[in-house]
Amino acid sequence: MKRIVIKVGSHVLTENGAVAKERMRDLVELIALVMENGQEVILVSSGAVSAGYTVLPLDRRSVGNRQILAAIGQPLLLKMYQEKFALHNILCSQVLLSAGDLDSKKRTYLAQLAIDGLLSNGVVPIINENDVIATEELEFGDNDQLSAYVAYNFDADLLVILSDIDALYDKDPRVFSDAKVRREVSSITKEELNAPSTAHNEFATGGIVTKLKAGDFLLNHGKEMFLATGFDLDDVKSFLLDGIQKGGTHFCGV
Ligand code: GLU
Repeated sequence: MKRIVIKVGSHVLTENGAVAKERMRDLVELIALVMENGQEVILVSSGAVSAGYTVLPLDRRSVGNRQILAAIGQPLLLKMYQEKFALHNILCSQVLLSAGDLDSKKRTYLAQLAIDGLLSNGVVPIINENDVIATEELEFGDNDQLSAYVAYNFDADLLVILSDIDALYDKDPRVFSDAKVRREVSSITKEELNAPSTAHNEFATGGIVTKLKAGDFLLNHGKEMFLATGFDLDDVKSFLLDGIQKGGTHFCGV
């Protein structure tokens, strides 16, 4: 694998109403190790709205407030990332995208040039939805799908989704104690894709269905996806660095 997209969700980056700095530090450390291993990493990070809320607790249910929170939180988030990456002498950068940016060939090409340029200079692009203007995203959209489009359009081989869910199960593990992990998935059914989307966290907009949609999109485009917990990076570390799957779900064509 040459180029990897790692997506981290709001829930993983937030704890007790504040940015979970230790988790961010661990994530950045992992990215540094993956880069040392000769792979390029694009990070898709949520957490703008939740970071904004830590300094100005506006009601997040209003779209207008979420725009304000994202505008405040995005620079706070990036500042924290910059500090953490600096400990590894790595530069990071901010790339804000809206769905429309990947609609036209010309804009996609311009974005590809920017991403390629950053990566060839050893800089980590940190991508988020441009939440301040992409209000339809704030109402229901999600970074799971954005990260799938990023992986496809910026020619990554693999998308890693670090979530509050440690894997895909055969039934809801919060309801059924005998739910089993599905370690490998090579196709996703229509029923699975059409199930209602349920996010576990007040800041997150996704849920398992949006991850399945991301996986379905990538499988249909000959790419792979790995879903693992973002709370403990052991599973993703052994998958990326040693090629060993301890936990998590690997979405991979047959
Ligand atoms: N882009 C939003 C944020 O940074 C989160 C969207 C999502 O988690 O899917 O807060």
